[in-house]
Amino acid sequence: MYEEVVEQLIHQLERLPGIGPKSAMRLALFILESEDNYASELAKIIELAKKTIRFCEVCGNISGHALCSICSNSNRLSSIICVVEEPKDLIAVEKTCEFLGTYHVLGGNLNPIEGVGPNELRIRSLLERLSNKKVEEVILATNPNIEGEATASYLARLIKPIGVKVSRIATGLPLGADLEFADEMTLGQALTLRREMN
Ligand SMILES: [Zn+2]
Repeated sequence: MYEEVVEQLIHQLERLPGIGPKSAMRLALFILESEDNYASELAKIIELAKKTIRFCEVCGNISGHALCSICSNSNRLSSIICVVEEPKDLIAVEKTCEFLGTYHVLGGNLNPIEGVGPNELRIRSLLERLSNKKVEEVILATNPNIEGEATASYLARLIKPIGVKVSRIATGLPLGADLEFADEMTLGQALTLRREMN
């Protein structure tokens, strides 16, 4: 239908999460119609971000250095680890200002249908943190949807035998929702009212 290079652009945009064919086409047209330097600025910043940003060696958070700003902050309690699915969830919890511990970013949730098993997530490195350091509590703050709950249950079964307290954020949060869309008060309350997992 279009020039092949436009087709390729649409195809690449369609690979982005949450972007369907229609949105991809709209974005492609926006880029093509924008002023000359927008496309090259966009391409440059994507390349630069990809080159310079990495994942924290300890928690998996997005970072410009080997350790992220939270893991390298000595005021944060390393004895409490809040487990989240994605960096965006970490940011959502940070915004509540309710949490002074550290994080562990799994990189997703268990989703057998999409081929995501335990080995695809940062679970081994979480268990290593629990065995090496004096961690007293793990708060499971995966999303309150089916996959998030399944991931929390799986982790609770792995962690409890180690002798570390495991808690799950309370569901003041609407079921089926994403942490990133919760308001600070709801998410803050859900953290405060977290319950120990059986
Ligand atoms: Zn970190």
